[in-house]
Amino acid sequence: MNQKTNQCPFCNINERVLKSNTLAQAFLSNPRKVPGHFLVIPKRHVEEPWELTEAEIQDIFKLIFFIEKKLVKKLGQGADIRQNYRPFLKAGRLKQNHVHFHVYPRYNQDFLYQVSEKFETDLFTDLDPEEQDEFAKLLK
Ligand SMILES: [Zn+2]
Repeated sequence: MNQKTNQCPFCNINERVLKSNTLAQAFLSNPRKVPGHFLVIPKRHVEEPWELTEAEIQDIFKLIFFIEKKLVKKLGQGADIRQNYRPFLKAGRLKQNHVHFHVYPRYNQDFLYQVSEKFETDLFTDLDPEEQDEFAKLLK
């Protein structure tokens, strides 16, 4: 283990792993937003999502969809999958640098909706054609 993996809680998560495959593993987020809030990570310490190998992405998404299906069947009406890349934030209890994907169950007008997302509908606006062109150029 090098310095980074030595200090990374996700590189030392072994006893909390509930499901794994060759290159990825899943465990419950602690702290968590809602019951059934899972994190899926590559076993290897990776900080930039685009540094994941094709094989790691495949194993990560196998676990994500396995968990999502279980959550929808047993706990919710739907699920969210989310990956945040925020290098501008300092690592701590609510932010780890080891790439991870959040998977959690959703219900119609659930807790997350009530406390924050019901205000998000006001953020949506019609797409401007110039903005469309600008981002089309970005991807060329
Ligand atoms: Zn790590």
